[in-house]
Amino acid sequence: MNDAASVRERYEDVLKKIKDAAEKAGRDPDEVTLVAVSKTKPIELMEEAAALGQLDFGENHVQEVVWKQALHPEYRFHMIGHLQTNKVKQVVGKAVLIHSVDSVHLAKTISDVSVRRGLVSDVLLEINVASEPQKYGFPPEEAAGAAREIAAFPGIRIRGLMCVAPNSDDPEKNRPYFQKMQHLAVDIGQKNIDNVFMTVLSMGMSKDFAVAVEEGATIVRVGTALFGEREYKGA
Ligand SMILES: *Cc1c(COP(=O)(O)O)cnc(C)c1O
Repeated sequence: MNDAASVRERYEDVLKKIKDAAEKAGRDPDEVTLVAVSKTKPIELMEEAAALGQLDFGENHVQEVVWKQALHPEYRFHMIGHLQTNKVKQVVGKAVLIHSVDSVHLAKTISDVSVRRGLVSDVLLEINVASEPQKYGFPPEEAAGAAREIAAFPGIRIRGLMCVAPNSDDPEKNRPYFQKMQHLAVDIGQKNIDNVFMTVLSMGMSKDFAVAVEEGATIVRVGTALFGEREYKGA
């Protein structure tokens, strides 16, 4: 499963499915960025993907971003997992996009650290789209208010929304959640809040990324379908 041919096959298959889904929805496939979720995976596997042209990688632990980024500063690391405020210092400036901003307090911390370093950090607001008790994220109805509050912080730029849809073997079950995300992004965008850009919609994982693309995803986060099963399933 870890040999180069198999990563290539899986990679080409994922790209083909993204392309087909985009075309089915009348979208330009180039609007969709594949983030290869490499959490728990060895650097060699990422190097195989990079050799095929895949440079965007998703990680859910700060520690893993730090050591992998030190080896390959040319890769684009996306922080997709829950971020504790005491780890913000380590990830600001290392991740190109923090997908998992799930509280105003976290956003404030990211902004403060960024300002001290003369940076502006791009982030997404994580939405608990299916109101699952065990999941992080803003309730959908609180997203616009949170965006307004966070937009006032000088070291942060809201680029869009992210969700982790329910884990289901039937991707159609998540279609309504992806539609809800798309509508929420449009609604917030129409409020014309200064410093809020609703151009990124990060949604869709191995089991449902094609449906997510049909419903407007601009980033899909795909791990298992590219790199095989993880030994320890991430959150
Ligand atoms: C692990 C993870 C993914 C990728 O999941 P797969 O089912 O392996 O594609 C995507 N997003 C987040 C936030 C994750 O933690």
